[in-house]
Amino acid sequence: MRIGAHISIAGGVAKAVDRAKAAGCESVQIFSGNPRGWKIVPFDEAGAAEFRRRCREEEIYPVFIHSPYLINLSAADPEIYEKSLAAFRNDLERSDLLGADGFVIHVGYHRGEGTAAGMEKMAASLRETLDALPDLKTEILLENTASAGSSLGHRFENIAEIIDRAGAGEKLGFCFDTCHAFVSGYDISSAAGLDGTLEEIDRLIGLDRLKIVHFNDSKYGLGSRRDRHEHIGEGMIGRAGLRRIARHPALREKAFILETPKRTPEDDPRNIALVKSFRG
Ligand SMILES: [Zn+2]
Ligand SMILES: [Zn+2]
Repeated sequence: MRIGAHISIAGGVAKAVDRAKAAGCESVQIFSGNPRGWKIVPFDEAGAAEFRRRCREEEIYPVFIHSPYLINLSAADPEIYEKSLAAFRNDLERSDLLGADGFVIHVGYHRGEGTAAGMEKMAASLRETLDALPDLKTEILLENTASAGSSLGHRFENIAEIIDRAGAGEKLGFCFDTCHAFVSGYDISSAAGLDGTLEEIDRLIGLDRLKIVHFNDSKYGLGSRRDRHEHIGEGMIGRAGLRRIARHPALREKAFILETPKRTPEDDPRNIALVKSFRG
């Protein structure tokens, strides 16, 4: 198990490696560019090379890129769908340039079109993108989402069906967010609930596809459908529950990435040290 956090790229991607190292990270997740805008920024090849070199020097691996929030590969609106596809493809090319192992993307929202249509659209966009990028090295990792609104991605069976319909085999993996699962009704705070949830992931998606755990406590309760991450051990999953997840044999080889609040500069180092103490 390698432990890291989502780290800011302010001032250039290579700066993220210094910040990750200072916080105690062994692995890292970053945004590849502006997470909130549609504008496609040109590749900074020198910056990417520097990022790869610094990751090697500091032994930071695996490296994950998180997709911009605006991308919705299930969008019913053709303009948003086309913009999403273009941004997705560009970001995957950027991920390869950064030497990333995985690119994390939320399963989209159908906005009234219905779950089946939304899932088919997401699967089609994955097929189309992977066909267009036959040499892509970065693995696409579908993240389970909190079950707000017309979300498709809070149920493991929906994610399994999208992977199936996309027919892309080993190029698609799974990112398991603990906060999102908990607020969607999977009770991973108890021993029995955790075992049941991991069995369900294995049966529907396959634990071999699970490459990264977004390791977050939750401000709100089981099944609350409210997505607010909390510091490790200070939320509703709680310290004992999170410790049990970190020590679960099925997750021993996975990367754990924290997306916990950053209210002070001490927050990341403290949360990371606590998770390191869990693994014993
Ligand atoms: Zn997440
Ligand atoms: Zn979240």
